[in-house]
Amino acid sequence: MQYTQFIVDIIGGILPKIKKIRHKLHSVPELGFQEERTAEILIRELQNFGYRDVVRMACTGVVAVLDSTRPGKTVALRVEMDALPIQEPELAPNRSKHDGVMHACGHDGHMAILLATAAVLMETLIKYQNLFNGKIKFIFQPAEEISQGSEKMIANLALENPRVDAIYGFHNISRYNEGLFVVSSRCATSGGATFKINVHGKGGYVSSKHKLCNPIYVGSIIVQSINDIASRIISPSEPAIVEITKFYSKGFEDGVKDRIPDMVEICGAIRTISEESKLKIKNAIIKLVNGIATAFDMVVENTFGTDIHPGFNNPYETTLMLNTAKKILGEKRVKTIDDPIMSPEDFSNYLKEVPGCFFLIGNGSENGVLHEDKYKFNDNIIPDSVQVLSEIAIEYLKS
Ligand SMILES: [Zn+2]
Ligand SMILES: [Zn+2]
Repeated sequence: MQYTQFIVDIIGGILPKIKKIRHKLHSVPELGFQEERTAEILIRELQNFGYRDVVRMACTGVVAVLDSTRPGKTVALRVEMDALPIQEPELAPNRSKHDGVMHACGHDGHMAILLATAAVLMETLIKYQNLFNGKIKFIFQPAEEISQGSEKMIANLALENPRVDAIYGFHNISRYNEGLFVVSSRCATSGGATFKINVHGKGGYVSSKHKLCNPIYVGSIIVQSINDIASRIISPSEPAIVEITKFYSKGFEDGVKDRIPDMVEICGAIRTISEESKLKIKNAIIKLVNGIATAFDMVVENTFGTDIHPGFNNPYETTLMLNTAKKILGEKRVKTIDDPIMSPEDFSNYLKEVPGCFFLIGNGSENGVLHEDKYKFNDNIIPDSVQVLSEIAIEYLKS
């Protein structure tokens, strides 16, 4: 196709600028719903690329629309804007200027890819005026890391005016080779929840232990029991994770080693590929914790935090994504896997409202793991990602 070469040329031309924008975004990371500077940069660059009506939404979110001026469907492309509360190492390139905040999930790269895609599609529409009908909506969403952004974007009508018919999202991922495009046929983004259990005991000098209640002992029984929950109540054919991530004894800060603390705090995370299983696990945790607390005559508080449901890709949008990516990159660079992706993403909220597809792009294992301070977004994946996203939008809306 003639326009494919045109897109390749456009990407080649803007790539140095896009990398520069990515590095700029990387240097000013902001946490969820605080992405003021980020939104400013996005709006300025979208305007530079010819977008006139760029809208701020859901606190710091940014939305732009490309209108072919012919009636048709609307396809949305979505990326995330927020960073993580992680300290970036001293010598990292384009290091964060915001102390204790780092783009350690590659959302700077995602934003740069979507900006470039917006630029490419604008140029393509100017050159090939009849190539597609309808509209393309570019959604820059805040606060993904705290699983609140998409809900707020939807409540602020990000999927309306114009109504979105299909949505695409993606995430870079360290465990796949640079530039490998991966789709799960089973579950695109897992469900997830966090929990916190406070075990209140009766602390004191260890010699009087028979008159006290050691929350560490009871906490450790809770940990052991929770570790086993998934295999007891969820079918072995369905992946489910319940893992303790924190065990902290309060009253130990003074460094005294022969005093029983008053309380322990236990935190953990749940990952499932169905809402049903998540609910089953939550209920089992409540029963188990209450049962153990009663047995030992302890007061226990059990609270659940961020809760997110699993997301599933739709067949039509997924086939279109796979065919488009294979046409551009060849069969070897595009892979469908049967394993579910056991990471929650609030993209699942969009998938509940409209059909769509969420896929992964290999960032290369040599660039560190997501959510760690050694992680680096790999700029080499920008050109192909821009091309695939641009052509997905065109294929979806082709006249
Ligand atoms: Zn993340
Ligand atoms: Zn992320």
